[in-house]
Amino acid sequence: MTTPNFKKFNIEAYKPGKSKVRKLKKVIKLSANESALGISPKAKKIISYKNINIDKYPDGKSENLRKAISKSYKCNPEKIICGAGSDEVIQMICQLFIKPKDEVVLPEYSFLMYRIYSKIVGAKVLFAKEINFRVSVKEILKKVTKKTKIVFIANPNNPTGTYLTKKEVLELRKKLNRNILLVIDDAYTEYMKNKDYASGLDLFKNKNNVFILRTFSKIFGLASLRVGWGYGSKKIIDALNKIKPPFNVNTIAQLAAIESLKDKTFIDKSVRHNLLYARNIKNFLEKYDIYSNTVSANFLFLNFEKCKYSAKFLYEKLKKKGILLRLTEDGYHIKNKLRLTIGSRRENLKFMSTIKQILRK
Ligand SMILES: *Cc1c(COP(=O)(O)O)cnc(C)c1O
Repeated sequence: MTTPNFKKFNIEAYKPGKSKVRKLKKVIKLSANESALGISPKAKKIISYKNINIDKYPDGKSENLRKAISKSYKCNPEKIICGAGSDEVIQMICQLFIKPKDEVVLPEYSFLMYRIYSKIVGAKVLFAKEINFRVSVKEILKKVTKKTKIVFIANPNNPTGTYLTKKEVLELRKKLNRNILLVIDDAYTEYMKNKDYASGLDLFKNKNNVFILRTFSKIFGLASLRVGWGYGSKKIIDALNKIKPPFNVNTIAQLAAIESLKDKTFIDKSVRHNLLYARNIKNFLEKYDIYSNTVSANFLFLNFEKCKYSAKFLYEKLKKKGILLRLTEDGYHIKNKLRLTIGSRRENLKFMSTIKQILRK
């Protein structure tokens, strides 16, 4: 039987952080940067007790959610678009801006979905060198040509955990041709307490050539519900609304996201928890000559160059004990490093005691 011809893409499919180990029922998943404290009790309550009309289509405009976002972040609800994860917003931005042969510039080790969605719509993807696993404004500018349509950066960056300072981000926008859209992915911004950092939204709320991405998958703990948002000029948002799938964000996700925004106590607690354990684990690992980035988001990028064991060795040993980290060779092609998500207190303590066991001597 014949399979009709379809387009061929030169794409490596996204490989998520692993969540299962053969023969083990319970695993500790520290491989996907999910929330350490789960979901906000307020959000949990609304999902559990409110009589939600699942038999009816959701509000395709996510009206109440956009209002809640605009109130929380003091921004214009007309300039917000919600998506099934920020993932979908990245996809829509690529569909809106890119024609075949247009160019997209990405830092060498940036989030994989930028290259995947760019390539699907025919873009040529150029990678800008990073210096010591840190995004370089200079290297990005070197890759820009007349064909460049979009520059994507995640700040802080996943998987490296490094970030551009406020000054550097402003410099990037200033030196980049004004016709190029700068997309700043603020996925981890809530965790950032570093004094020289500013979020994309705070810096560029009123810029027509900057587009901001936000998600409810990380600190808000709603990864499975798939909800994120984009913020940009009214013109861009209006155009995106024409190509948006009509009912992209489900009702449960919209309600849970609204409640999570209200729960400042939960967010503050998550930030404090993260700082405490990120610092503890970073110091702990240094005893074994495993070094990591300056504490930034809810994960650490572990460097094994000075360690007598390899990243792969530790990864496999931990996996056998039911603790999963992210191998950065998968997708990112970064050798001898691991990405570790900061977990709950119990998970972090278990991680550290297991490391002690494995690396004893
Ligand atoms: C996790 C992550 C996202 C979130 O994706 P969703 O589709 O909203 O779950 C976006 N950008 C970066 C850089 C991330 O690490």
